[in-house]
Amino acid sequence: MSLRFSVLASGSTGNAFYIEHQDTKLLVDAGLSGKKMEELFKQIDVDLNELTGILVTHEHSDHIKGLGVLARKYDLPIYANDKTWRAMESAIGELKMEQKFHFEANSVKSLGSIEIESFSVSHDAADPMFFNFRADGKKVTLITDLGYVSEKIKAIIHGADAYIFEANHDVGMLQMSSYPWNVKRRILSDYGHVSNEDCGLALSDVVTERTKRVYLAHLSRENNLKELARMSVDQVLRERGIEMDLHDTDPEKPTPLYEVI
Ligand SMILES: [Zn+2]
Ligand SMILES: [Zn+2]
Repeated sequence: MSLRFSVLASGSTGNAFYIEHQDTKLLVDAGLSGKKMEELFKQIDVDLNELTGILVTHEHSDHIKGLGVLARKYDLPIYANDKTWRAMESAIGELKMEQKFHFEANSVKSLGSIEIESFSVSHDAADPMFFNFRADGKKVTLITDLGYVSEKIKAIIHGADAYIFEANHDVGMLQMSSYPWNVKRRILSDYGHVSNEDCGLALSDVVTERTKRVYLAHLSRENNLKELARMSVDQVLRERGIEMDLHDTDPEKPTPLYEVI
């Protein structure tokens, strides 16, 4: 078995990503209630008792809502960087010392048979980071919640076999929306979220012939549509001569477990 993963839920209402390789079974973020998280795991037929740990990208509630509950109920170790620990400590409640692990941004850690590389992103949180996962010569990149994709990040995430990539909003829809101007400004800023078009542009720089599929993630409920995100990203890629298998994610439904082959 190679790396397998599922985007359990994605969007501003809650994010959770599952990845496994052999006996190593990791959850990244637990942004929905404990009960909802259990339902999502049931849908992909993974037993939460077999989970080996939870990685945390940043402290926003759409990434940590069910974190404390799950960690306590299933006695799971949590991996986060120092600033994120401090920023989320009060929100997640009591945890045993033995459950708290440090995993700094821009470092590499092996958990079981998966090697994880963390990298910093620009986003309005204490010390947000996302990940490359490697096993058996395969690479999966998870990257959402960032204002822009820097050249440095492009180099780090280049040539993955699969991407879970943010396509947050359609710029036109956001500008026309009823959001207050300061919220619009935040989303469009370098510390906000990546638009459909910027997602396509960044992808066109990082995908290679190795890349088999891309999941578009963290779509705004108000300022995007699955169809529109797919079409926009596809158009940018096609203009650059790239044909890519684009997949949707959903705020409430997990994507089927996909094995990277
Ligand atoms: Zn988020
Ligand atoms: Zn965020």
